[in-house]
Amino acid sequence: MALNWVEIDLAALRHNFAQVQHCVGSRTAILAVVKSDAYGHGMIPVARELAKAGAHFFGVSKCWEALKLRSAGIRQPIVVLAGMEAEDAPTVIAYDLRPAVYRLDHCRLLDEAAQHAGKVARIHLKLDTGMGRLGVPVRDLEPFLDQMASLKHVHVEGVFSHLATADEADKTFSKEQMARFRGALQRLHDRSITFEYAHIANSGAVLDIPEAHGQLVRAGIMLYGSPPSEDIQSPVHLRPVMALKTKILQVKWVPSGHSIGYGRTFVCSRPTRIATIAVGYDDGYPRALSNRGEALVHGVRVPIVGRVSMNLITLDVTHVPGAAPDDEVVLLGTQGTERISAEEIAQKAHTISYEIYCAIGKNPQRLFL
Ligand code: PLP
Repeated sequence: MALNWVEIDLAALRHNFAQVQHCVGSRTAILAVVKSDAYGHGMIPVARELAKAGAHFFGVSKCWEALKLRSAGIRQPIVVLAGMEAEDAPTVIAYDLRPAVYRLDHCRLLDEAAQHAGKVARIHLKLDTGMGRLGVPVRDLEPFLDQMASLKHVHVEGVFSHLATADEADKTFSKEQMARFRGALQRLHDRSITFEYAHIANSGAVLDIPEAHGQLVRAGIMLYGSPPSEDIQSPVHLRPVMALKTKILQVKWVPSGHSIGYGRTFVCSRPTRIATIAVGYDDGYPRALSNRGEALVHGVRVPIVGRVSMNLITLDVTHVPGAAPDDEVVLLGTQGTERISAEEIAQKAHTISYEIYCAIGKNPQRLFL
């Protein structure tokens, strides 16, 4: 057994998928966002589990991720959310991927590749309704559609946009984006461009903007058990999927006045029982939690004292007399009745749970329960 490892609770993942379905109802399809190694949870095992649970679509960022899913036997349609590169066109056609399209040169390349293969390229047209990142700006839609009109081997399967503030309590800007999106969809209808799916909802909108659901929602973070931000009170109960665990390497008494770790940032104000554990920032645990984070030992919260170093962390276990070498320690997850969430770690590290999951999920020792 490794000295530290990540556990992925597939039952919790299935539970969260059911909660997405509960939020959106049975008429709305679900695109499970599994990009970035399923936010660190393991793209292939996660996608296989969600395919069994009934995910209709998968979403990745890049074409190579979609190819990995195809080689793992995933047959569902896959939307490549960041779009393609020019050289990807034949692969997109061969593997029946759905690239996000926001560039005419990519449209033309897809048209040629599809014609060559005797197939149709299915695309998801990406519109920028206010995020200001990828997407055809809605004000430039008409000339874009004029140019697309001559491409006979490209079929618009989906039209989508991304909300910038769905995770905030104030929905004013989300509503503006949705109005622009509806306006753009109407212009497509006016030109008799038919498409199967219009989609704009991420987890924030799944949880908090029912009118954004439409035919398809793109759920990411809520599948992994976190609300997108603390401003969103989830109407459903989500279960955390990832845990980070390790073991105590050594326990010892350190006298008052003794310092702990690099930089001597912690000095014991009393005789202190220090447990050194086998995890550090190389394992994705943020160094920002030096002297701030907590861990669970024998079901008790204990403070991190001193700096988080590359492979080691020091805990004050004075109040856990039973703590001994080889005991299990939880840095993210549950032990007994105590739980440390990714949100708690993220808040202390001044970041978001997404980043915590991606960082911790890089741990090569991942156990799927
Ligand atoms: N849609 C797009 C285009 C995204 O980039 C993402 C994630 O970044 C999502 C949906 C999922 O967002 P969330 O994880 O907040 O549900």
